[in-house]
Amino acid sequence: MSQIYLEMNHIKKTFGELEVLKDISLSVHKGEVVSVIGPSGSGKSTLLRCATMLEKMDGGELSFLGEKAAWEENGKCVYANKKQLKEIRKNFGLVFQNFNLFPQYTARQNVMLASELLAKEQPDYKAQKKLLHAQIAARAEELLTQVGLKEKMDLYPHQLSGGQQQRVAIARALALQPDILCFDEPTSALDPELTGEVLKVIRSLSEQHMTMIIVTHEMAFARDVANRVIFMDGGVIVEQGPARDVIENPQAERTKQFLARYRESQ
Ligand code: ADP
Ligand code: MG
Repeated sequence: MSQIYLEMNHIKKTFGELEVLKDISLSVHKGEVVSVIGPSGSGKSTLLRCATMLEKMDGGELSFLGEKAAWEENGKCVYANKKQLKEIRKNFGLVFQNFNLFPQYTARQNVMLASELLAKEQPDYKAQKKLLHAQIAARAEELLTQVGLKEKMDLYPHQLSGGQQQRVAIARALALQPDILCFDEPTSALDPELTGEVLKVIRSLSEQHMTMIIVTHEMAFARDVANRVIFMDGGVIVEQGPARDVIENPQAERTKQFLARYRESQ
């Protein structure tokens, strides 16, 4: 088996009285594409937010490429120190439903920003400034070309369609060369005619063997692009397996109901 890139063991998360994640365990291997499906409120976003440390877990273990980010001590969840977490965060990129681009920056600047901030931390930044800047700009251009936005690099988010903005967000997430890309419903804020262009980019990343976790309502996409599909409901993983098996031949009653409802609405 290939290397485990992300490992979550016995994750628990509560908001007040509400148990949102109840003992979830999940491993994602190098090159694997995992799709998470399930009804609204089932805990999909919370799972992704815990995996990417936007949300603190109440229990369980989290590690990236074998390096522990969080673990349990005396029944509590403790995290690695700030410096270690900063390094660990470089392992993943994130793409949200609402793009979250900086409105005051062009597409190119949005993609360059994180790399520029990182470059500034280098001890020889001042001496190397021009060269580093040129390298970062070239990389941003390459990424924006890859997502089909070669002609739009100098436009601001408000001058771009939702589908184009989301493709900028994907290029931005790729800028620091993460090992894992996480998507939270990347197309659900888009008009149907713009969904395809974003899914196409994600599909091409899967063809390049990018490791990805994709929360999505696009069942046909999950079936065709993911290696594994996970169905969540009520804060637990109800069922998981090879994408085609889960989508076309679900075993658990709850999965059957969810997919049947979904088919009716198509
Ligand atoms: P999904 O992404 O599957 O729709 P979420 O992970 O967003 O589900 O939410 C799971 C549950 O946790 C929901 O009941 C939601 O209302 C609740 N929840 C999510 N975030 C918060 C929060 N920050 N504070 C309180 N409750 C939350
Ligand atoms: Mg969600």
